[in-house]
Amino acid sequence: MAAALISGTEIARQIRVEIQAETARLKEECGVVPGLVTILVGENPASLSYVTAKQKTAKELGFHSVQETLPGTTDEAELLALIGRCNADPAIHGILVQLPLPRQIDERAVLYAIDPQKDVDAFHPVNVGKMVIGTADFLPCTPAGIQQLLVRSGVAIDGAEVVVVGRSNIVGKPIANILLQKQPEANATVTICHTGTRDMAAHTQRADILIVAAGKPKAVTAEMVKAGAVVIDVGVNRIGTTAEGKARLCGDVDFESVRDKASLITPVPGGVGPMTITMLMQNTLKAARIAAGRR
Ligand code: NAP
Repeated sequence: MAAALISGTEIARQIRVEIQAETARLKEECGVVPGLVTILVGENPASLSYVTAKQKTAKELGFHSVQETLPGTTDEAELLALIGRCNADPAIHGILVQLPLPRQIDERAVLYAIDPQKDVDAFHPVNVGKMVIGTADFLPCTPAGIQQLLVRSGVAIDGAEVVVVGRSNIVGKPIANILLQKQPEANATVTICHTGTRDMAAHTQRADILIVAAGKPKAVTAEMVKAGAVVIDVGVNRIGTTAEGKARLCGDVDFESVRDKASLITPVPGGVGPMTITMLMQNTLKAARIAAGRR
């Protein structure tokens, strides 16, 4: 029987309803409105569409949302000065610098300059460290979204064999860390595979939960998957254009064949993707709650 789909679109919608209600409550009880600034440097069309989507979602949820757009010629000192002003602004609880940045700016210096309490992307080393220790205020958005997809689909994570394909700092490493914590909604046995892994199929075939973030179409095929596994496909690969001229997308998993083997699977698009922006909003709300003394 074909696997049931985990709809990220639907789960993201549910979480946004919760965020909207909590935002209204925070405003009513404390007079605090979550504030998110998105910072875009240059005119990369993909980056522009990402920040536009983030701003639109923030507004829909009732946030105070600010868009700062700087020319592509901006130097590092100017960007750091803007971040300094946002760090000091009490109406701003979350700071999002859209990556990639132009070549003349050191990405690391910029991310490290963000106040960790406003680092809603959770890329600052203080927040990465807290995540590893298990005391995070904010989890990085895509991995946090994956955890919510599992939890809200009723997947048992406690004690599960989880195999993650990919070890990037934004997906593979953090999702592995999150799911191995001795905490509710985690406590899994986690294996991470990468291009240095000798026999990847030997690992993936053991997985109760298989999370694939390789950035390669069909990196995982049906024979690599255990019957009944839950498969989360993080990949977003552009493989041409549709008749309407839109980008044609596929994930990292050979969806059609793996669907016949798995019990649950995320589609691409409509799986992990919609969760990422939603978790950014969740983090911004959390930052505002913490600032208001409501942990
Ligand atoms: P990345 O930085 O390119 O990392 C890819 C990882 O996969 C690396 O660790 C690499 O191993 C490993 N890998 C690549 N090919 C492999 C193979 N054949 N077998 C085993 N391991 C392999 O990518 P990323 O930033 O994590 O993103 C991964 C995918 O997720 C991309 O398609 C990206 O677009 C997508 N993504 C989606 C969202 C979303 O919101 N939906 C968010 C972030 C990323 P090495 O370390 O050995 O090179």
